[in-house]
Amino acid sequence: MEFRDLKRQYKKNKRSIDKAIKKVLKEGVFIGGKPVQELEEKLADYVGVKHCITCANGTDALTLVLMAWGIGKGDAVFVPDFTFFATAEAPTFLGATPIFVDVDEDTFNMDPDSLEKAIEAVKKEGVLNSKVVIPVDLFGLPADYDRIIPIAKKYDLLVLEDAAQGFGGSIRGKKAGSFGDAAITSFFPAKPLGCYGDGGAIFTNSDKEAEVLNSLKVHGKGKSKYDNIRIGMNSRLDTIQAAILIEKFISFSKKELYLIEKKSNYLRNNLKNIVKIQKIPKGFESSYAQFTITTSDKETRDQLQKYLTEKKIPTNIYYQNMLSNLVVFNDISRQKNSLINQKVLSIPFSPYIKLKELNFISSSIKSFFDFLRLSDCDE
Ligand SMILES: *Cc1c(COP(=O)(O)O)cnc(C)c1O
Repeated sequence: MEFRDLKRQYKKNKRSIDKAIKKVLKEGVFIGGKPVQELEEKLADYVGVKHCITCANGTDALTLVLMAWGIGKGDAVFVPDFTFFATAEAPTFLGATPIFVDVDEDTFNMDPDSLEKAIEAVKKEGVLNSKVVIPVDLFGLPADYDRIIPIAKKYDLLVLEDAAQGFGGSIRGKKAGSFGDAAITSFFPAKPLGCYGDGGAIFTNSDKEAEVLNSLKVHGKGKSKYDNIRIGMNSRLDTIQAAILIEKFISFSKKELYLIEKKSNYLRNNLKNIVKIQKIPKGFESSYAQFTITTSDKETRDQLQKYLTEKKIPTNIYYQNMLSNLVVFNDISRQKNSLINQKVLSIPFSPYIKLKELNFISSSIKSFFDFLRLSDCDE
């Protein structure tokens, strides 16, 4: 069993992907060109925003938006404490200070009350200027924008949606990538919509910001490539990756999201009353970048992981550390947050996982807890 079955996915879409790659090779344009433009149009249309600007990866996408907004030294950027490193790395890279906000133990996403508390604490301290909040759509589930956006408005903060894992998710039909002032996604292979290397994109409704971003991602170009008007980056999506993504996006939107919904419901139902699963609030849809369960404590989680490994069921711990506990952030961590990292376990899931495999996973988890409960009976 694979943790995330990219080989089976390729097999299912081999013909169209191979054809798209060959076409790029034949045409001999490897940077920019028609596939990149076509992909940007398709994704902007799908997400429901005016502009999609592709770039080299999700981390660059975060950095580019923060650059366009002029974020740097002396600025506070609010990020969830429980996310992939890049969410906090991008603002820190630009000289800003990440403020780690506690997450909701049921959804794993940024807790709006903790966000407001953190903003107030920074204000009271009077050292940093609060500028941006970066909510993360963790494991495919959109963050609580119904509550986060009004808080950001109240304190005059910009919202940058980190939908690196969220592409394909939605809240009452409104798609991930359309929340806040700008959003980013990643096409890292294991993300909901992945390519065959690195890739990323930015979503915005602002014409002016789109123009700045298109300049920043190509060495701060002006009217031409050699008329540089600002310091930027070299961050483009390869033409081959764009061509692959166009084909994968068709299959993602037409077929895979359907499979994800059916199979996640099936697995959730199997695991009901056996183990706690990431909560999907009413009206929210997840694209299940990960299927993540929670145990009562670290010891149980570690035992369960060992048990599943013995059964040859691969698992991963996303994420091993709260960001605020990482050595690299020692100097700036302020408050103590919940330690959800000690209790989570991600189990195999992808659109092409077989029902048989899902059954084996859930029956194995059930037998683990049965044995745990009745452990004194066999002595
Ligand atoms: C993967 C990821 C990123 C970074 O994307 P890359 O394409 O790997 O640079 C940023 N934020 C989150 C939440 C991610 O999961």
